[in-house]
Amino acid sequence: MKTIELNNGIKMPMLGLGVWQMDEGSETENSVNFALEIGYRSIDTAALYANEKGVGNAIRSSQINRNEIFITTKVWNSDQGYEKTLSAFTKSMKKLQTDYIDLYLVHWPIPDKISSTWKALEKLYDEKLVRAIGVSNFAIKHLKELFKNSEIIPTINQVEYHPYLTQPELVDFCQKNKIVMEAWAPLMKGKVNNISEIINLSEKYKKTPAQIVLRWNAQKGIISIPKSSRKERILENSQIFDFNLFDEDIKILDSLNKNYRLGPNPNEIDF
Ligand code: NDP
Repeated sequence: MKTIELNNGIKMPMLGLGVWQMDEGSETENSVNFALEIGYRSIDTAALYANEKGVGNAIRSSQINRNEIFITTKVWNSDQGYEKTLSAFTKSMKKLQTDYIDLYLVHWPIPDKISSTWKALEKLYDEKLVRAIGVSNFAIKHLKELFKNSEIIPTINQVEYHPYLTQPELVDFCQKNKIVMEAWAPLMKGKVNNISEIINLSEKYKKTPAQIVLRWNAQKGIISIPKSSRKERILENSQIFDFNLFDEDIKILDSLNKNYRLGPNPNEIDF
């Protein structure tokens, strides 16, 4: 699995399996098991998804060395603040049945808790309980707020990102600050299959629309974590490292942006 180097020197796979909306039991375990079997080495979960135990079970039963697997989990909004974040982390680690997490993210920015939550993540990093710390759904204003009172720059900003939402200003800001972008809902929950420009590219490269879009992200240095519980799609979504999109086709994909969101806008949401 191709990797990208984060700003603290650790390597993260360019592609991972997202497990949001999978049931904790057999759905999560079967999907993660299958993904690991066919070569995925990164799993994206969160306390909110209520399936960390299923992810942990699948990883333990996989017989793959723990240090070959990259686990991301996230602190949920109601657990933010210094002490609560530390205790939420311990619970997540226990459910995941591991003694360290690869990447721990702040799930959403809570304006008056950005600093205290981040301090907790810095402590976990200093104590080597996490290999990298980062954020999710942070707009530029939230990142600037975090920078005011932090010692460590986030490695990752995981945000909604797909052909209809490319957030060029945020991408530029993150690049300048050495923060790697990670795309959630990279497939627009399957809707990329209905976009005519993507269908045309799919015919040109003899790849599926999902593969075109995931390849586009990879070539731009953006990590993707598509979710699927279906074996054939978990496999399909991983077969993106055997072809190259030409620059002119990357430009076509870049031009589809409509600032269209499937989820809440972090600039507007008020938790
Ligand atoms: P995705 O864009 O990954 O789409 C997932 C949906 O698309 C599922 O319904 C899946 O159905 C379907 N699908 C998967 N592969 C294909 C394919 N090749 N062709 C057609 N349809 C397909 O959206 P998600 O919202 O799930 O985002 C991915 C991951 O990002 C999440 O699982 C989670 O880990 C993370 N995330 C993070 C958020 C955050 O706030 N940080 C918010 C939302 C998501 P099926 O399972 O039936 O195949």
